[in-house]
Amino acid sequence: MKKKNSYGPKRNQPGPSQPQQRVANISYTKGKKRDFGKVNGGVFVYTKPLTVGELSKAINVPVNEIIKYFFLQGKAVTINQTLDDDSIGEICLEFGYDFKKEKVVDAAHFEELEIIDDEANLCSRPPVVTIMGHVDHGKTTLIDYIRSSNVAEGEDGKITQRIGAYQKEVGGKKITFIDTPGHAAFTAMRARGASVTDIVVLVVAADDGVMPQTIEAINHAKAAGVPIIVAINKIDAPGANPRRVEEGLMAHDVISERYGGDAIVVEVSAKKGDGVEDLLEMILLQAEMLNLRANPARYAIGTVLESELDKGVGPKATLLVQNGTLTASDYVVVGEAYGKIRRMTNEYNEVVKSAGPSTPVSVIGLSAVPSAGDRFMAFPTEREAREVAEKRALEKKAATRLGSAAMTLGDLNSLITAGQVKDINVIVKADLDGTAQALKANLEKFSNDEVKVHVLAASAGAISDSDILLAEASHAIIFGFNVRPDARVRAMAEEKGIEIHLHKIIYELLDEMEAALNGLTTKAKVEKVLGQAEIRQIYKVSKVGVVGGCYVTSGCLKRDCKVRLLRDGVVIYEGKLGSLKRFKEDAKEVKEGYECGLTIEGYNDIKEGDIVEGYEMVEEGK
Ligand code: GDP
Repeated sequence: MKKKNSYGPKRNQPGPSQPQQRVANISYTKGKKRDFGKVNGGVFVYTKPLTVGELSKAINVPVNEIIKYFFLQGKAVTINQTLDDDSIGEICLEFGYDFKKEKVVDAAHFEELEIIDDEANLCSRPPVVTIMGHVDHGKTTLIDYIRSSNVAEGEDGKITQRIGAYQKEVGGKKITFIDTPGHAAFTAMRARGASVTDIVVLVVAADDGVMPQTIEAINHAKAAGVPIIVAINKIDAPGANPRRVEEGLMAHDVISERYGGDAIVVEVSAKKGDGVEDLLEMILLQAEMLNLRANPARYAIGTVLESELDKGVGPKATLLVQNGTLTASDYVVVGEAYGKIRRMTNEYNEVVKSAGPSTPVSVIGLSAVPSAGDRFMAFPTEREAREVAEKRALEKKAATRLGSAAMTLGDLNSLITAGQVKDINVIVKADLDGTAQALKANLEKFSNDEVKVHVLAASAGAISDSDILLAEASHAIIFGFNVRPDARVRAMAEEKGIEIHLHKIIYELLDEMEAALNGLTTKAKVEKVLGQAEIRQIYKVSKVGVVGGCYVTSGCLKRDCKVRLLRDGVVIYEGKLGSLKRFKEDAKEVKEGYECGLTIEGYNDIKEGDIVEGYEMVEEGK
């Protein structure tokens, strides 16, 4: 009987044929060999300023002719004088050459290489898809359904290995699925500068609707500029209401065709498989619109999706080839490690000889375990791979941990003036959604011809680790209005160098942004958080009022310090400590790990589970 779904590669399907010849992406030359440029098909290609003498040799024009040319222009030059780009261009044109200055990227920094392939060498490549959505909306079920629907003739019994990604074939075309659902992996990759995803499939359960992580996923996809296809899942479930999902998404600018927008929406049941075929077709349609292409005839470059230390075979990694072709005997540099691939397998644990663009493969042979998100590049010779890896290791050692990529308000103005920043990404969290939206609208008004302020996310609620991840991935600044991060999130932000700016008055928040844009530093007093304590028990004491039995979870609390009371990350009261006691004794300070009793001056409505955050005002920079 022919089964309904027939996705999946055919058993004996040939892999991409091994290209006859591949071009190297970048060549490694040790030491400082002088490069005077070269003439290539009438075009003089050079990389750095040249002297008159050097240019003369490179384009085969006598020095005298060059000196004469400038002399007639009223400029006196000598043979050892260095020419700027304009002068080099002038001479080239005068003597019948076109010219081009190429940016040189050191092979040890191959991540910076911008590969521009000739049109003629480009072939279409499969889309790389990440599935995101709220917990329990059916991401894993969908991934597993697509993965295991190998029910084409002869496909039964082929079991996919979990290597981080797999490919499906639909009507002769392939789709690559990243099989770690959720946005944590997606964002972690982006934070490391690796964008592997071409299309996000947003799973939303029809019986639940748009939920917080649905919105987060939309924000992540938008920040990465990746198109979204909506899969309304669980249409078989009682209470399924796909229209409600579509309406819910509209509030987040994902507007389906039914409502006049252009978002592709497919109704599916991941459990039963209904609609999954349509979804796959829509992915291919979207991919066609994106016109995804790569050049198989170059050495591979791509990203590590997963890695582990296998006890038997050593470092093992899943690589996603993004451009070029990786073959089973290539030398690969990833991180500071290099190695000759000893074995390369696909998701069926079958040995493959070569892997073209958008293909995930599991490889062994690397000298160390790389990290997910690391970029890799294949080199034609072992010597090159080794030298590049050694140089990277040296540089890594020398690199200080300074200079984090995080964006700070303090250096915003100088970065804008230097032309290094044109887009400022901001995340807004507030106690009320209305306030968040108002702040978003006002912050976006700071956009002008030079800089654009993008509010990546604006919503109600505490500042969470997901906000920090999004900020890290997008170099964003976080503004909190009447909300606080808890100690764990604060520590995470500090570790990653993400700035969180907290405010209680709207115009102060906007003033701070304006001042930063204009390069004015506010020398006002700033608050310094002392620590946090959790209220674990409530006692009513006559004459004193309500006493909270607390445990100091981070930092310390000091007698008379200013405090704010947080419930679910939202500030519900601000004031001052009334009293602070250890056992029955007044205490000057209670440190992390100790219990204490406290009252808040003039406030009795404290509850178990509330967080008391102590702070003091200090001069900036202290
Ligand atoms: P994830 O957290 O998004 O990965 O969600 P799961 O894939 O683990 O699914 C959560 C629950 O929803 C599981 O109990 C699934 O069996 C169920 N589920 C997933 N897809 C469907 C569906 O299409 N219909 C129904 N009725 N249940 C589904």
